[in-house]
Amino acid sequence: MTLLNVEDLKVTYATDDETIHAVNDVSFSIDEGVNYGLAGESGSGKSTVAEALLGLLPGNGTVERGTIEFNGTDLMSLSDAERRDILWEDIAYIPQSAMDSLDPVMSTGDQIAQAIHTHRNVTDAKARDRVKELFEIVGLDPDRIDEYPHEFSGGMRQRVTIAMALALEPDLIIADEPTTGLDVIVQDKIIDKILEIQERMDSSLLLITHEIGVIAETCDELSILYGGKVMEQGSVDNVLVNPTNPYTMGLKNSFPEIDESDDPVAIPGSPPNLSREPTACVFEDRCPFATDECGESHPELFDLPNRNHRSACHRVKEAAQLRRDAHDPET
Ligand code: ATP
Ligand code: MG
Repeated sequence: MTLLNVEDLKVTYATDDETIHAVNDVSFSIDEGVNYGLAGESGSGKSTVAEALLGLLPGNGTVERGTIEFNGTDLMSLSDAERRDILWEDIAYIPQSAMDSLDPVMSTGDQIAQAIHTHRNVTDAKARDRVKELFEIVGLDPDRIDEYPHEFSGGMRQRVTIAMALALEPDLIIADEPTTGLDVIVQDKIIDKILEIQERMDSSLLLITHEIGVIAETCDELSILYGGKVMEQGSVDNVLVNPTNPYTMGLKNSFPEIDESDDPVAIPGSPPNLSREPTACVFEDRCPFATDECGESHPELFDLPNRNHRSACHRVKEAAQLRRDAHDPET
């Protein structure tokens, strides 16, 4: 069963002097029980996708077109209030930098209790019990629910935000960079915790991160975004083991722990200018394999013959050769 289906999503931001084309024709779907990764460098449009589907874009952001279906309901046809209800009931959202946006003058437990009270008609005592239970689930000491955010470490504050998001037992957990800014050991613990909870609640997960290593460890499927476009998509085994898109190959080389290869090699160059709609492949000016065709149009997402693997690259049919060249650029 499909839980979330996003089709041809296009989002722009209006600024004083230009229009930013942040997300361009993005489609993907998440089946029940699947852990889905959304990867890509900073500025590729990951958070914009999440905010668009949750109806939480900033004031200057507009969904230009696209459909978003959750559990068969067309989210775009709902009012903001109706969408917010779904958001809290069925979708848990852990926003980027959530741990830094906790209210500094309210105890962590009260912040979670407040979220519960907004959506459930429960007594203060019941809400407090639930907060204690949630603290335990995320691995925090339930005796500390009256403490304030500054009394916790970064990793513990992130656990508080996870507890808050999980208060109502969601079908889908959307976590935007849940481990960024935490040290590696704490990162692993947080990821383990999210996976444990996701399994226990039988929820699906949309994990947004620039670290494809984290996705390789935790997800079944993924989309790789660049310049607001899906560059490659499919099962983690296909996309990260045998990438067919030079952008994915470059991303993999910048996270060598994935195949335990050599030192990290960052992709040279900088992200595309999003102030106009792409007329060439968005990766063309950084791609070591670009040809004239790549300068003429952005490629369609091409369905590869193996199941669950799509790639937007004009040279997709030569992928095996490109992969060898990408691995050993000297030859
Ligand atoms: P990061 O990894 O840094 O979180 P991201 O992949 O989540 O990046 P987004 O935050 O979705 O990327 O941003 C996509 C593009 O839209 C970027 O170029 C960003 O500068 C731009 N952008 C985001 N929010 C706004 C806004 N409110 N106004 C104008 N441009 C914006
Ligand atoms: Mg982001």
